[in-house]
Amino acid sequence: MKRRDFVSRVLISGGAVGLGLSCKRRIISVPDEKEARSVVRENASGATVREPERDIPVLAETDVLVVGGGPAGTAAAIAASRTGAETYLVERYNHLGGLWTGGLVLPLLSTHAVDRNNRTRQVIFGIGGEMSERLKNMGMSISEINPVVDPEAAKYVLDEMIREAGVKMLYHTWASNVIMEGNAIKGIFVESKSGRMAILARVVVDCTGDGDIFDLAGDDYDVMNYAIGLVHRLGNTDTVDTGTTGYAKMNLGKPTPIPGVNWVNMWGKENQDALDVRNLSELQMDYRKEIWENVQKIRQTPGHEKVFLLDTASQLGVRMSRILEGEYKLTLEDSMTFRSFDDVIGISGAWTTMMYKGKKVPSRERPYWQIPYRSLLPKKTDNLLVAGRCFCFDRELVEDTRIIGTCLVTGHGAGTAAGIAAKENKRPRDINKNTLKRELRKQGAWLG
Ligand SMILES: Cc1cc2nc3c(=O)[nH]c(=O)nc-3n(C[C@H](O)[C@H](O)[C@H](O)COP(=O)(O)OP(=O)(O)OC[C@H]3O[C@@H](n4cnc5c(N)ncnc54)[C@H](O)[C@@H]3O)c2cc1C
Repeated sequence: MKRRDFVSRVLISGGAVGLGLSCKRRIISVPDEKEARSVVRENASGATVREPERDIPVLAETDVLVVGGGPAGTAAAIAASRTGAETYLVERYNHLGGLWTGGLVLPLLSTHAVDRNNRTRQVIFGIGGEMSERLKNMGMSISEINPVVDPEAAKYVLDEMIREAGVKMLYHTWASNVIMEGNAIKGIFVESKSGRMAILARVVVDCTGDGDIFDLAGDDYDVMNYAIGLVHRLGNTDTVDTGTTGYAKMNLGKPTPIPGVNWVNMWGKENQDALDVRNLSELQMDYRKEIWENVQKIRQTPGHEKVFLLDTASQLGVRMSRILEGEYKLTLEDSMTFRSFDDVIGISGAWTTMMYKGKKVPSRERPYWQIPYRSLLPKKTDNLLVAGRCFCFDRELVEDTRIIGTCLVTGHGAGTAAGIAAKENKRPRDINKNTLKRELRKQGAWLG
């Protein structure tokens, strides 16, 4: 293979990689130079396959590599690129927005909260605010507070913003392993229709939602099993005739910016393991059946004959899985007491009632809350940052931290920090927090 075709090649050799890098493997596998094919073996933990040693082409060497193009990853990639760092974004599916778009989870929650003067105010600005503003200007979002967006418009807007920022986008590409040198991440392996390749980067940002990268890198984390759902949309909801004989009210979900199209949330089964592919597959099929049958019932209900199932989400509704054990664990107490941090990277809001000190605090009374940079920093792995629903927080705060607004804010913070670290050739933990805050403000973030 010539360099212009792709560059260089990385030789994997039993946990050690050429170019002085080392490779961590998740599945026990001892490469044997003599073996040209994979060999299945049995051991105490079940069958394993021995993967033969092979050369892996290097697809790119870049400053910043963001893995996962959900709300967090899209914001992170745009932010990193805006600092002037060369930035790649890797996404396994064919669109940006993650659960926001592909999961049909359409309300961008936590845009507002109460300030120190007890007034409700907007708190999500910066890149998340820009996305929201663009969708509003297109007539593709409804409601000023916690706007509900159209998913196709959001995919389009996010693509446009990625292009304008000069991010190098790789769709249809799955991050499958990490390339390590000691405790520093040096890049990742990806799988796609082009085969297995390596991408080398000065800084990697894990925005996979499930913390795939910090897991592979060997960092510490908690795993939270939670309810998994599947969202769907209904069409022709504006044709329902309440005057029809035998009419009964059915759950048709909530309006979207497209007249006659509603989105229907599903809480789903509790305590689900989002890291077990067999479980995910079963849930996917069970939920599709449940939704299909329910829509048939709706259509058979007088007055609802024209309602139809427009689509089920292309991404299963995984709420939680891995949560990073990072440098600082953000707490409910922090979020309820206007706790301020000298390394603040952004502020998020409230959208639901929380129990605090034995009392129910409704969202309209809840304060805005700061997010410190240290909550995006893994304890062990260097050159890695984490944003989105798997950054470091206490489980008590999960309802606010997993929400799209918060993911956009943590993504903006992590991407900006990654860009600065790459350009200054520093470890992310060593960058100057004032430089970071200055750059975030320049990029329109609100830090309180
Ligand atoms: C049913 C449901 C309802 C919800 N309702 C709301 C709501 O109304 N409002 C709200 O604000 N929030 C809601 N949420 C929460 C919110 O949608 C998510 O928590 C948020 O989208 C998380 O953003 P993220 O960027 O961290 O991760 P995700 O949105 O999960 O994005 C992660 C991205 O990374 C990609 N990826 C993952 N692994 C890899 C890999 N190995 N290689 C390459 N790409 C990878 C994925 O394809 C995905 O695009 C809901 C969630 C669910 C499940």
